[in-house]
Amino acid sequence: MGEKVLEGKALALHWRRTKIIATLGPATESPALVEQLLAAGVDVIRLNLSHGSHDHHRRAVTLVRETAARLGHHVAILMDLRGPKLRTGRFEQGAIQLVRGSRVLVTTRAVTGAPGLIPSQYRQLHRDVRRGERILLDDGRLELRVQSVEGRDIQCKVIHGGPLSDHKGMNLPDSRVSAPAFSAKDREDAALAVELEIDFLALSFVRGAADLKRLKRFLQGQGRLIPVISKIERPEAVANIDEILVHSYGIMIARGDLGIELPAEQVPLIQRELVEKARQQSVPVIVATQMLESMIDQPTATRAEVGDVANAALMSADAVMLSGETAAGKYPLRAVETMDRVLREVERHQWEQGCFAPEPTADRSNKVYLLRESMAHAAMQLTRDLEIEAIVVPTRTGTTARIVAAHRPVSPTVGVCAKASVCRLLALHWGIVPVQSTEEETQDWRRMCHHIASCCHLGKAGHDVLLVAGFHDDPARNEPSMKVLHL
Ligand code: PGA
Ligand code: MN
Repeated sequence: MGEKVLEGKALALHWRRTKIIATLGPATESPALVEQLLAAGVDVIRLNLSHGSHDHHRRAVTLVRETAARLGHHVAILMDLRGPKLRTGRFEQGAIQLVRGSRVLVTTRAVTGAPGLIPSQYRQLHRDVRRGERILLDDGRLELRVQSVEGRDIQCKVIHGGPLSDHKGMNLPDSRVSAPAFSAKDREDAALAVELEIDFLALSFVRGAADLKRLKRFLQGQGRLIPVISKIERPEAVANIDEILVHSYGIMIARGDLGIELPAEQVPLIQRELVEKARQQSVPVIVATQMLESMIDQPTATRAEVGDVANAALMSADAVMLSGETAAGKYPLRAVETMDRVLREVERHQWEQGCFAPEPTADRSNKVYLLRESMAHAAMQLTRDLEIEAIVVPTRTGTTARIVAAHRPVSPTVGVCAKASVCRLLALHWGIVPVQSTEEETQDWRRMCHHIASCCHLGKAGHDVLLVAGFHDDPARNEPSMKVLHL
């Protein structure tokens, strides 16, 4: 390889394209650990509202924002709403043993559990299940089959037995769950998200567009439409993916619950299909859960886990997520570092091949977007043909930068924006380097590109950058232009 190529490679690969999301939890809530995670390159912090009080999350948000500001990183915060996660109640002795082939009673009456009696915290359970349907407990480890329903009592047979302790998760893969995906607790949590100016809200157990509309109406009432990420973890969500993509800012392939609600062996193909569909619509897509699961207890990942992370990058997902690994694991920092290394290795290979992923084809039905899509396609072609170091996109709302990056150009897309909140949104997207700048600074394009090239390690004197600008939502003022600037 020639010198220019090597030099270009160091610059081109300075920024990891696939973004990393890390969940905060007991293992990572100290200021020192948050700082280590962000310094190691975490792009989005996830707060899991299944745990912790509002005060607790308020403190976490302040800590993340202060640390990010100190490091000069644009880090988004994603608040993950619990949704209708169904749970069992408590047992007299803290746990019971379920014996295969035996009968147990699941009840929605307010009782304490005992051998042969499982209380359900979900009070509608007896209305939702029918004879022959499965009730899965504790992440699908235990399986019951419904034999009959009488009033609030559900008579079941144990198919897969084992110990069952307090407050374990319950999944109903065969039933129509009537609990809304936006619960009373979610309402309070979403109000907190508005108050704290959270960047993304994730909605758990989405079934279709109606769930998203309900959440959006609520947010509208609160005065702030936070972008919503739909967690795909119910069979209905897979079936309704097209309408969900229309009504979501992004989607998360929540493989934990998805692999309980559907046979786990179906998850890999569903993942591939969902990544493709989301990318087709330029909707950001997150691959989540168990990516480096063994690192909760071990300092190194299994080869299979490394393969899983690499696979997500090969599919060109926007982001990969760590859950228990960073929230409750022994090696949170090492998990992030491992993920970073695996992603970079795949991206180096893709860059050398001259292609990160096949481009989505333009949606010809939407004229405003068709122009942007065509420009993005042309930008992608130019960066490849001219070996351009960076694409610089001054952007007000982030849309143009997102569309350019959705085409997976070989060079990084620098989204230059006056608003810090838009910079944080861009942190989730594949290949985008968010840079905050004043409106005036973006007027002098040449100076701006020079400045960005040097401060972002993207190009030196003698290199070219591509400027893409001039998009407007008003078709009359939508006059995009592209300019190759020689640094
Ligand atoms: P959870 O969602 O971690 O909130 O359960 C992710 C998943 O189910 O995979
Ligand atoms: Mn889940």
